[in-house]
Formats: sequence, structure tokens, C-alpha cells
Amino acid sequence: MKDFQNGIETKCIHSGYEPKNGEPRMIPIVQSTTFKYDTSEAMGKLFDLEDSGYFYSRLQNPTNDYVAAKIAALEGGTAAMLTSSGQAANFFAVFNIASAGDHVVVSSTIYGGTFNLFNVTMRKMGIDFTFVDPECSEEELNAAFKPNTKAVFGETIANPALIVFDIERFAKAAHSHGVPLIVDNTFATPVNCRPFEWGADIVTHSTTKYMDGHDATIGGAIVDSGKFDWLANAQKFPGLCTPDESYHGVVYAKKFGKEGAFITKATVQLMRDFGSVQSPMNAYFLNLGLESLPLRVARHCENALKIAEFLQSHKNVSWVNYPGLKGNKYYELAKKYMPNGTCGVISFGVKGGRQVAEKFMSNLKLAMIATHVADSRTCVLHPASSTHRQMSDEELKAAGVLPDMVRLSVGVENVNDIIADLTQALEV
Ligand SMILES: *Cc1c(COP(=O)(O)O)cnc(C)c1O
Repeated sequence: MKDFQNGIETKCIHSGYEPKNGEPRMIPIVQSTTFKYDTSEAMGKLFDLEDSGYFYSRLQNPTNDYVAAKIAALEGGTAAMLTSSGQAANFFAVFNIASAGDHVVVSSTIYGGTFNLFNVTMRKMGIDFTFVDPECSEEELNAAFKPNTKAVFGETIANPALIVFDIERFAKAAHSHGVPLIVDNTFATPVNCRPFEWGADIVTHSTTKYMDGHDATIGGAIVDSGKFDWLANAQKFPGLCTPDESYHGVVYAKKFGKEGAFITKATVQLMRDFGSVQSPMNAYFLNLGLESLPLRVARHCENALKIAEFLQSHKNVSWVNYPGLKGNKYYELAKKYMPNGTCGVISFGVKGGRQVAEKFMSNLKLAMIATHVADSRTCVLHPASSTHRQMSDEELKAAGVLPDMVRLSVGVENVNDIIADLTQALEV
């Protein structure tokens, strides 16, 4: 059946789960904490990583694995895992290869939650981060690397700055320093961009956004391209290349190869210890979202482009930022990495600044004020007073967030209704 799973639309429906004769056509929800074995010996083999199988849903569950396998297929990766949230995905992706005393190079224009995770919480764990302007010179970029650097991190389309990340450029820099590039592909989704095709090594997702797409479940995913050669850089990655005593000395990079080492370690070590697993029920809902992902993403992008053009021509709007809009600073980069469309999120400024922006938002009737983006319902947010409020003005600027910025997440409603709502709110 894999021969007929080439298009992303087909993969969204069929990949990851193939029912055998008489089995449920839909991914079954295995809502069970534990799994039964006939002998202690059979179970012991699972604990030794000698056999693959399920024993406790804190580590792995069949429903989650079907959905993770679908996401791996969508990204063109070799292995994937689901996490309880996007935050957990980004934490695991970095912490799987960086620990106390290590360092990571990060694009400064990332999601506020990830910025906090790195800059506050993971610093407390002894991991150091250097934030670089995604448009910095080659010299500045190379100067950011240190002997203890273990990874480079960026977002395909930064939330909420909507800056397009030059994946190929950062992948080259990462590889020339012997470390992998981790890309958070939440906003583009694999429908619009597959970072592995441009050299990224690990992809993360907040599946809470377009993948779920219906405001229903929080979740995350990590996907491995299977291309990064850990053993070739063994001194940098002792966690993958030296024995793990908690599994009788298994060496992940040797036993599971390039294709499986990263996700296996993150599952049997980090998930075992931190337990940020997605519930099978949520994985089931996530799968429903994935089935219609290409249809929805296309509509989000179509609506967003029309609305960006509408806003650009409106007298009460001071600026519009949408990478799919001709003349946008990132238009060319977006065309390279996302020829079929970028995302449904637009940011813009309302003339009159911060207070007028807040007034405009409270005037909206269809578009709701919500701390969310990237789902079927159009919603708005004022980042400076919400998601990014813990940042200083300097940090806001570095993250590409202006005080008068309104973040508009365009839904899949009829575009004329959304435009009518924006029109009345902008006129008041
Ligand atoms: C929302 C978001 C996250 C965090 O995801 P949660 O599911 O909310 O934990 C991470 N990265 C990006 C780009 C996001 O938009």
C-alpha cells in the first residue's frame, strides 16, 4: 500500500496505520495504562530493549505510535514520538542531546513559550543558549558556536514575528560545527514545508495548532530525519554514543542506528523519567485533525492572503506582515521554502498604536480574542500584553514583536464574513 502513498493528502489519511483483515478501519484508541505478558521473561526483554512492545503507556502506546508514524511519514522522517504539548516536544528535542554544561544556538525570533523554556528554565538546568538574529552575517553566526554547542534551533515561520527561517543556511552552519539543526515546523506544517528536504535533522511540532486544528487538544511531536550521524560526532553526544547504564549499557546510536537512536532514547529515557506523554484519546483526536490537514491548510492560506491584501489597502492599518504577501521582506524566502503557501497567521499594526489596537480587538464580533493561533476559528491576540508580556522591550524587539502588533489567526470561515467583521471593527 505504501506505493500508493506518495501525495501528502493520501499520507494524511492512510500513513501510520494499516488495518489487517477484519480490523478496525479507524485507528483504535488503546485506552490502557498497561499491557499483559505471559511470562516475566517476555516482559524483561522489553525492559532491556531486546524486544519491541508495549508495557506501560507512560512510555509508549499503540494509538500514539500510529499517529506518530503518520507524522513521521508526512515529514519524511524515520521515527517520531508524540508528547503532551509542543513545549514538551521542544524541551525533549533539546534535552535529549544537551545537558548541564552544554550550549545551544537559537534563532532569536522564536515563540515566547520556547524562549522562556530555553532562556529561563533550561538555563536553570545549566544549559547555555546564544540567541542570534536570523539575518545575522555568516561571521556572527559562526561566532555563536562554542566547543560545547550541541544543536541549533529555529522556527520555519516564527510565531508571532512571521519571519521565515533560512533552513538551508542554518543547517549548513550547524553541520559545519558537527551538530544537528532542530526546526519547529508548527506554523508551516509538513503540508507547506518539509524542513528535512532542506537539511534539518530534527523537526518538532506543537500539534495543538494546525495539526489538531479544531481547538480541541494540546499536543506535540518530535520527528527524526534519520540523517544525522551521531557516531561521527561521538564526543559531542555521549548520551547517544556511550552506554546507558539504566538499560544495561545499551548504546543508542549503535543499537538503533541513525534512523532510530534519537527517538528511542527520548522515549525510553526522557519519557520514562518526565512522563510528558500524550493521552491515547488526544492522539485519536489529533489524527482526525491530520486527516483534513491539507484541505484546511490550503483554505487558511487562501483566506489569509486575501485578508492580508485587504488590510494592506485599509486606511486605518499602519503596516501588514504576511510572508505570503508580495513585497513582504520574506516573500522570496517563503517562495523558496513554501511554494504552495505559508500559514494563516498575519500580523499588523492599527493606526493610533497600542490603545487603538486594543479597542479594535474588543470591537470584533466574529474573530475572538484567544491565546491561540492556527485553528479553524479566526482569532486575534495582542502579543505585547499577553504571550510576550514577560519580555523586556529589548527582548520584544529581538523577537520581532511591536507594541501595536495585532496577531490575526485567519480561520477557515467564509473569507467575506471575516473581512466584513474586520471592516466594521476598523471603522469604529
Ligand atoms: C504553540 C507553540 C508552541 C508550544 O506548543 P504547546 O502545544 O502550546 O505547548 C511551540 N512552538 C510554536 C511555534 C508554537 O506556536
